[in-house]
Amino acid sequence: MTEPRPPHYAVIGHPIAHSRSPAIHAAFAAQAGVALRYEAVLAPLDGFATTLKALRDDGLQGCNVTLPFKPEALAAADLASDRAQLAGAANTLGWTSDARLWADNTDGLGLLRDIEHNAGCKLAGCQLLLLGAGGASSGCLGPLLEARPARLLVWNRSSSKAHELVSRHESLAARLGVQLAALEHLQGAPGRFDVVINGTSAALHSGRLELPEGLLNADGLALDMVYGPASAPFLDWAARAAPGARRRDGLGMLVEQAAEAFQRWHGVRPDTAAVLSQMRAA
Ligand code: NDP
Repeated sequence: MTEPRPPHYAVIGHPIAHSRSPAIHAAFAAQAGVALRYEAVLAPLDGFATTLKALRDDGLQGCNVTLPFKPEALAAADLASDRAQLAGAANTLGWTSDARLWADNTDGLGLLRDIEHNAGCKLAGCQLLLLGAGGASSGCLGPLLEARPARLLVWNRSSSKAHELVSRHESLAARLGVQLAALEHLQGAPGRFDVVINGTSAALHSGRLELPEGLLNADGLALDMVYGPASAPFLDWAARAAPGARRRDGLGMLVEQAAEAFQRWHGVRPDTAAVLSQMRAA
């Protein structure tokens, strides 16, 4: 008799070989005693929907979605969380018991958990600068606003995208009492920030972010959503700009957003500290 196959999960992207999601979900599963098979799937650039359908026909229970398919993942869903709709993108998909496809975006929750829980830095009342207005920043802006910083400014290389992102979140910011605006020029930034988050992919494209040294408070926090060696240019800037400031790369965010997805699928919240240490060691 053949063994039943364990429930099937995946991360879909293009490219995908670099993804650490299979290792993270395998570590969560081992910790929680959950049997699953989680694989990285490369979808053709014009083939997200057909790839998702083929995987579902083969028994897929849920999946993460990464670049460049997050907007398509949202569009494919029958049900979408408010935060996924506000972000215009989804990174976590699953099916309801009556087979409807649901979509969520856990990037912002993961970022927030890494900042507030892992780094112990409360955002309420702080001055926050978000660099970038791409998919990752879009996914994080709503949850960052929910943490109620006093002021949150968004800077992006193409300023029209920063303005568009800000205008999409204006009513949420007003409801929460957060001053939200786009920042045109980093050189003319109004004072120092308690928290500077780099949500650009500049370092991955060998691009340089020209950041003035007066941006970060002496006891502030600099966080790069990028992880590993590619985070060095931003974190080195932070070390020069404010030697006493805390510096974090995006590995904590990655593990925490995965934990949110794991909890949605399996109903168990993993111990992320143990898995983060394991991933750092690897
Ligand atoms: P997108 O391609 O959607 O957006 C890229 C962003 O980077 C845009 O704001 C773009 O500006 C900006 N950018 C690119 N090159 C430069 C440059 N040379 N100078 C200044 N700005 C630049 O990517 P994502 O938003 O999805 O991802 C951004 C980063 O976040 C990636 O490095 C990704 O790996 C990381 N990430 C990490 C996660 C984690 O869990 N740790 C989760 C998701 C993403 P413009 O609009 O002007 O082109």
